[in-house]
Amino acid sequence: MTTTVKLSHEYPFSAEHVWAVATDLDHLQTVTRGLLEFRDLPSGQIHDGQHIKVQVSLFGKLPYQPYEMTVVTCDQATMSFQSEEVGAGVKSWRHVLTVVPTDTGSRIEEEITIDAGIATRVFATWARFLYRKRHMPRLRILEKRVKSLPQGHVDLTSTQARVPSHNINGFHAHVYFDDTSKDAAADLCEQAAKLFGVDLGRMHMRPIGPHPMPSCQLDCTNEEFSALLPWLLGNRGDLSILCHAKSSDHLADHTRNAFWLGEPQRLDLSLFD
Ligand code: ZN
Repeated sequence: MTTTVKLSHEYPFSAEHVWAVATDLDHLQTVTRGLLEFRDLPSGQIHDGQHIKVQVSLFGKLPYQPYEMTVVTCDQATMSFQSEEVGAGVKSWRHVLTVVPTDTGSRIEEEITIDAGIATRVFATWARFLYRKRHMPRLRILEKRVKSLPQGHVDLTSTQARVPSHNINGFHAHVYFDDTSKDAAADLCEQAAKLFGVDLGRMHMRPIGPHPMPSCQLDCTNEEFSALLPWLLGNRGDLSILCHAKSSDHLADHTRNAFWLGEPQRLDLSLFD
């Protein structure tokens, strides 16, 4: 038994901005916070053929269960992606998302086709609720993002964008830690979030993405980062922190658009090949 849920949401922002936010895994946790908590969720924009294995917990309270997502297609030109998902009691969950430009901004159109056996209708109700709930946090992310763009900004999400250094759309600070510095890292990150309003990621207890050590991410607008940086310099203790720009060029962001506070580490850049 399968059923299809269709949703659409209007945004007073350009389709390019909405697409960039809708396909950014860093925002997935933010827009589902309180409803779903993820472990092992990778960072950055999704891409064609990407296979993502995570652990997911309902409300962050029920036991974590394995969940797999495959990005079947992700087409920047048509601003449409399709993912196939399986796990946590669902046999098949196909999610198609398209961003359509409108007169007043853009619209996200979503179609979710679910097969969860006899529980299909329950999951369909849940899906409708879950995808609706993403709308408000996504609006807030977009407001913050658009406000942080410098004057004369060239849109980074256009397919031709090669990114000169001034087209930077925020920063990450990744605070690295090991068993002995875990608490210091957690403290530093929590304080940073409190003092500067930056988005606090999870404590990744294992290497993830290009990061060779356990780490925690602080996601900043340009303005937040310029306030945060001197504070980090003065308060990091012995922690190593990777700071990097956010543009559409992930390899550049982790090489020439990156710098270290403290001891530099060797990044695993193979995933940007
Ligand atoms: Zn990063």
